Amino acid sequence: MKSDREIQDVIVVGAGPAGLTAAIYLGRFRRRCIVLEDGQSRARWMPTSHNSPGFTAGIGDNQFLTTLTEHALQYGARILRANVSSLAVDDHLFALATDQGIFQARYVVLAILWHGYFAGYRLAKSSFRRRVRIGRH
Ligand SMILES: Cc1cc2nc3c(=O)[nH]c(=O)nc-3n(C[C@H](O)[C@H](O)[C@H](O)COP(=O)(O)OP(=O)(O)OC[C@H]3O[C@@H](n4cnc5c(N)ncnc54)[C@H](O)[C@@H]3O)c2cc1C
Repeated sequence: MKSDREIQDVIVVGAGPAGLTAAIYLGRFRRRCIVLEDGQSRARWMPTSHNSPGFTAGIGDNQFLTTLTEHALQYGARILRANVSSLAVDDHLFALATDQGIFQARYVVLAILWHGYFAGYRLAKSSFRRRVRIGRH
């Protein structure tokens, strides 16, 4: 799979609390990073979370995601709406097939809350375990 897009240092799949936190840290360490997400973060349904570090009065009602998104953008992350359907390795790069085309990166962070529907997961796990970081609960 080839793409004419710029190759990223890291692609983060998922823009929930896990993926956005990863993007903040990657940006802080000056890594070129894109976050791909399909708009289905479970955090959207949180009424008020009382265990999010730093928010002593609790935070919810989308405010948590909004704050994390602003923080990630501040550190240079690009957040794109795209549904990732598969993940493959081609010429030492990860290639993610999405409904918006193909994205390539040297590393991938899966922060997708594992539901068992991510087609590339088994391939990534079996072949390239050491280069994949999996964000899940
Ligand atoms: C009613 C309710 C109340 C809750 N209250 C609390 C609470 O008080 N405290 C607490 O800690 N937790 C609470 N939770 C749980 C909280 O929502 C989750 O712990 C949190 O959202 C997990 O974050 P995450 O980033 O791992 O996953 P998510 O927030 O689910 O994010 C997953 C991301 O992956 C993306 N994604 C998945 N598959 C694909 C794909 N194929 N292509 C592209 N993108 C993809 C989604 O679009 C999303 O952006 C609550 C949940 C609910 C429903």
